[in-house]
Amino acid sequence: MWQSESEDGGGLAGECVLCGREQELFRLPGTGGRFCLACSADLATVLLLKEEIDAATLNGRDAEGLIEELSEVSAAVLARSQSTDFGSLQR
Ligand SMILES: [Zn+2]
Repeated sequence: MWQSESEDGGGLAGECVLCGREQELFRLPGTGGRFCLACSADLATVLLLKEEIDAATLNGRDAEGLIEELSEVSAAVLARSQSTDFGSLQR
């Protein structure tokens, strides 16, 4: 039997990169950081919306609704974060 208990990406307690709270942390692909459940959910939404906006822009579609949604979620994430440089999450 093989054991790979550290491969699930969750269940690790620590300080959330974004809000600084001591919580159970989850790794979010594409960000290089570990976040609590609430932050990782918001960030996942942000990343998803960015992808959708990129795709819509490339295809010449109207992304206004998506951009509006993105700014709302981003504002919520930024409001929760303390001193994290949000821009450093993107490379
Ligand atoms: Zn957090």
